[in-house]
Amino acid sequence: MARVYNFSAGPATLPEDVLRQAAEEMLDWRGTGQSVMEMSHRGKDFVSIAETAEADLRELLGVPDGYHVLFLQGGASLQFEMVPMNLLAGKAGADYVNTGEWAKKAIKAASKLCDVNVAASAEDKSFTYVPPQSQWNLRDDAAYVHITPNETIGGVEYHWTPDTGDVPLVCDASSNILSKPIDVAAHGLIYAGAQKNIGPAGLTIVIVRDDLVGRADPAPTPMLDYATHVKAGSMYNTPPTYAIYIAGLVFARLKAAGGLAAAQERNVKKAAVLYDYLDSADFYRSPVALADRSLMNVPFTLADPALDAEFLAGASSRGLVQLKGHRSVGGMRASIYNAMPIEGVRALVDYMADFAARKG
Ligand code: PMP
Repeated sequence: MARVYNFSAGPATLPEDVLRQAAEEMLDWRGTGQSVMEMSHRGKDFVSIAETAEADLRELLGVPDGYHVLFLQGGASLQFEMVPMNLLAGKAGADYVNTGEWAKKAIKAASKLCDVNVAASAEDKSFTYVPPQSQWNLRDDAAYVHITPNETIGGVEYHWTPDTGDVPLVCDASSNILSKPIDVAAHGLIYAGAQKNIGPAGLTIVIVRDDLVGRADPAPTPMLDYATHVKAGSMYNTPPTYAIYIAGLVFARLKAAGGLAAAQERNVKKAAVLYDYLDSADFYRSPVALADRSLMNVPFTLADPALDAEFLAGASSRGLVQLKGHRSVGGMRASIYNAMPIEGVRALVDYMADFAARKG
């Protein structure tokens, strides 16, 4: 069966060679006579898989000494809660920048646990831009500043790193982690669900600076306490072993392809194919401010929304799937994560041009 170009926002398309390797190793991982799925998480084979995955992730992101890399579960959504539970450490509140649907969810969860100051919001323009830091109202006594560097639904991305001084910067990098180099040292904590640029759903990555671990008093219950997972090397309970294995294959492949600087180059080129076409065609419109357009999630609308269903059906018949925009914003959205080949984006643009010529 032919594979489609899958523009889903997540779970999302994975590199085909990773899937092939996983298929080849499914019944017998490297002469062990077992699938990775069947291995004890404490046995030497799986431990070596997890250790290699962590080492490769550290190398890719350039994680400095003094940071822990955790492989957890619960999705980014659990991090919306674990972050305040662990990082408040006696302070009353935290600052959040509201850039869209995912920032709003983080704010909603944190508001149950502490005093949230919305330091800036892009709601005035329907979340189509990133408020510049000059407009943020940060508090000196905030426990941390939380940002959503890529809004998966709105397609808005920070192309800069905020400077929050001594207040730890916390970021939800679920939908742009590994798409470009980042300055880990500028952050106190980075978290990301795996199901976009990393691997299967079920794995959540947390990168946390050592001094932010174990400060909560009283400590959260064990599963919700970063200190538990740091101490146990992410093996306090059974980790999502197969997801970690696939993530490891993705990391190794990214390393072999030149690391994150090379990934960024590919992503910039790939996104330009779509944005250049959107800007040249009256039939389509990109709602996001030029400077803040996401390289990962590209929302766009048709001149006539009555044609949306026909557009989607035609795309699907050409093997271009999952282009429907999120229900909260409507229109279309093409998610073009690391694993989407440029050929997929070219095929989409060809189809869009053809559709516009027929209907425009
Ligand atoms: N944050 C962002 C930016 C996301 O895109 C998502 C999922 N689409 C989430 C958080 C929630 O992640 P999860 O479903 O893994 O809890």
